[in-house]
Amino acid sequence: MTNEHRHESSPKGLPLHTKILIGLIVGILAGLIAHSLGSSEKGGTSDGNSNGLADWLDNLIYWVEPVGKIFLRMMFMVVVPMVFSALALAVADIGDVRKLGRMGLRTLGFTAILSSSAVLIGVGLVDLFKPGKYLGETQRQQLLEQYSTGAADKISKAKDAKPLRDTLVDLLPENPLQEMVGAVDGSSKGNGMLAVMVFALICGIAITAKPDGTKSFVGWLEGLYEISMAVIGFAMKLAPYGAGCLVFALAAQLGFDILKTLMLFVITALTGLGLQLFVVYSIVLVVFARMSPWKFFSNASEAILVAFGTSSSSATLPTAMKVANEELKLPQRVSNFVLTVGATGNQNGTALYEGVVVLFLAQVMGVDLTASQQFTVVLMAVLAGVGTAGVPGGSLPLIVVVMQSVGVPGAAIGIILGVDRILDMCRTVVNVTGDLVIAACVARAEPADMLIADAGPSVDVSK
Ligand code: ASP
Repeated sequence: MTNEHRHESSPKGLPLHTKILIGLIVGILAGLIAHSLGSSEKGGTSDGNSNGLADWLDNLIYWVEPVGKIFLRMMFMVVVPMVFSALALAVADIGDVRKLGRMGLRTLGFTAILSSSAVLIGVGLVDLFKPGKYLGETQRQQLLEQYSTGAADKISKAKDAKPLRDTLVDLLPENPLQEMVGAVDGSSKGNGMLAVMVFALICGIAITAKPDGTKSFVGWLEGLYEISMAVIGFAMKLAPYGAGCLVFALAAQLGFDILKTLMLFVITALTGLGLQLFVVYSIVLVVFARMSPWKFFSNASEAILVAFGTSSSSATLPTAMKVANEELKLPQRVSNFVLTVGATGNQNGTALYEGVVVLFLAQVMGVDLTASQQFTVVLMAVLAGVGTAGVPGGSLPLIVVVMQSVGVPGAAIGIILGVDRILDMCRTVVNVTGDLVIAACVARAEPADMLIADAGPSVDVSK
């Protein structure tokens, strides 16, 4: 944890997340002040037209917005290489997982079940509460103008979406390169990024089928992944200013209305994460691990707090391993394996969040998603949960991908960036706890003789 904090600290010593928070608060406050000044100016002139201060405000927004957009583009530019390399490498790793046999398969099974339940909870809650529908029509039109070039076009395309049957066939891209281009600019004829993801999965499977002949390609993929991560790292350095400028422009144009809508979004996301964390995990712990949820949560509290503080599953990995071995007394062989794979491969909180964000922003932008599009969102959110890096904001580029694939303008992600950091802390808690839950379940299912043989070296006597 301390290492990660050091990475995130600026030379002046303020951790990155504190700087982002400051950027957001300054952006929102300045935006709200600008909004009320602008509207009183408009109301104050006899003809109701804006002049003076209001013009100056429009000018200010005009120049502030690009800073936010540059921050977003830094992320967008690496979306395709990152998704492709992360998923292909994840499947190639799972090829190795298979070699581990029963334990690997059980881990995969629990991952699939927990990720799917998470996304369904998230999508179900947004469908139920419809937090994005509370925004006034005028504000919605303003957002559409601001965030989308040709939005009406994209939205009407989204409305006459294909039937489920064609969506399934289009999972396989006819021309992967065309789908990669289409996934970014919205011109895809097939399933866009979902098809790219399937292409990556097939390449990963092919790598496991021909491990000897593909070593150099795997090295290339690893390099591509590292480069994408480095660029996202640069983007995160811009985050305090970028996110601050984005929320400034939003608050200045829409005033308190957008804050109300965002509050509803935060409540929906937190309700979903809470249900997954306390209800789904407790049931799974009782049924599969025969463990008291109360005991589990109190023993896992150290890892939970570190996950909350760092917003990074990868940074929490050492603490999670310590907790698994020393507090939960899980066999080291099981916990090391499950937690390492899970730090990037099992991100239930992230999968849930991705579903919530995409549906919420679709509502905000007035895009009605059909059943088959919602199915696409669920499938992509589950896959994205596998391909997300366990770092702060790791899921943001993938959320853009899912949004674009169902006709929601990618730049609209700016609307939720202001509150993303705090939700990142919460979803990382769900991610890390999910890994520990699976470790407990897999450990329970392993034959007792293996656990006894394992107990010796795994238990840290220093405790
Ligand atoms: N911060 C998350 C994690 O490390 C990833 C994300 O959802 O952005 O688990």
